[in-house]
Amino acid sequence: MIELLGKSKEELRALCTELGEPAYRGGQIYHALYAERKFDFTRMTNLPAALRERLAKEARITLPQVKQRFVSSDGSVRYLFGLGGAEEEGLSTESPEEENAEENMRKPNRARTPASVEAVFMPSEGRQTICISTQAGCAVDCHFCLTAQLGLIRNLTAGEIVAQLLIALEEQRSTPPGGAEEGAGRETLDERSKIISSGAKARPMQAVVSHLKVRPPVIRRTLKPGDTKRPDAVQTNVVLMGQGEPLLNFEPVMGALRILLDPEGMVLSPKHVTLSTSGIVPGIERLAREKVRPKLAISLNASNDEQRDAVMPINKKYPLRALMEACKNYPLRQWEHLTFEYVMLGGVNDSTDDARRLVHLLAPLKRVKVNLIPWNPGELPYRESATERVEEFRGILTDKGVPAFVRYSRGRDVMAACGQLALLDVSSQNGLVSIAPS
Ligand code: SF4
Repeated sequence: MIELLGKSKEELRALCTELGEPAYRGGQIYHALYAERKFDFTRMTNLPAALRERLAKEARITLPQVKQRFVSSDGSVRYLFGLGGAEEEGLSTESPEEENAEENMRKPNRARTPASVEAVFMPSEGRQTICISTQAGCAVDCHFCLTAQLGLIRNLTAGEIVAQLLIALEEQRSTPPGGAEEGAGRETLDERSKIISSGAKARPMQAVVSHLKVRPPVIRRTLKPGDTKRPDAVQTNVVLMGQGEPLLNFEPVMGALRILLDPEGMVLSPKHVTLSTSGIVPGIERLAREKVRPKLAISLNASNDEQRDAVMPINKKYPLRALMEACKNYPLRQWEHLTFEYVMLGGVNDSTDDARRLVHLLAPLKRVKVNLIPWNPGELPYRESATERVEEFRGILTDKGVPAFVRYSRGRDVMAACGQLALLDVSSQNGLVSIAPS
């Protein structure tokens, strides 16, 4: 059976030619899959009946299984997806990576391991943001991030990356505001889900956590009950900030991005798609040469090498001088700026001196902005910065002309926030939030 999900228009055209069909049928399949989100050949009515029947016998569209949905009090939904074993094409051995990641990618069995990943849907007024994963687990080992505890399980294929978005968009189209009740769209998706079991296991975590600070509910859905308008008619933002380091799975990530950003594919604007990297310098240089590319965000999180070595060991391989040089040379489009994410770790990287050093570090760069992200609690040896500290830090940056914004993560109460994606199960009983490996 030929897997169609993740294939480019050119690949689908070539496939149709191989099948003895006109090449343009490949373009029609591409449109049905990504623009119309039809995952059942019988619904691809732009194709002749004979071809639909043939595809049903010889090809497949494998969607991940939605294993669980965790709905936050702020309206976000964390999806836990089960992925089947991936084909060889999921491997990426070309990009120059961090040693462990590289070694893991070359292990032949890893490529086919069933795995679980997470994506987060965040609705808000007039727009929706979907955070997707590019690898199952992660080898980069940022010390403030729970995903790092999983290690790298395997790379995702282009199809598995695109599918997270297709499922979230399709499902949320038919979900009433504020909840993840069964909707017609989901039923269809679950019926279509094929292979699944989870091979991914988180390391054992503390069973009961009662100290998670949860922000007040902010249910901001754009749709009203019974509204049949497609929510993706509102602005859709996509961030590649879920599990994994996107630039360590370069080709499949680019394959997915070309579909996302294609006016004949998923029709997303590059202005609304952001790839976040921990600072893989050769990957940044490679991305700079791509014709189709999203916006770039750098997860910085420190103001000098010593500090960054301690929280992000990848810095030993790509230290700040090399990283800043790659950023300086990165070809920004007219409308574009580089985003630097800075997770505020209380007592670690949030001092006045840190803010001043950060200003100095970014000074040689054109068009930057800084997103200050209060750290999201998890079983890690860090604490949140006080709100006043975060504000003071931001004030120092903006006073010196560096645009800085405080970004509170969504979905903290269901372990959906930045740095919390670690396949954790969450349930709430007697006022206690219980967290355990899924
Ligand atoms: Fe990997 Fe990103 Fe977590 Fe770092 S922050 S360990 S790159 S998922």
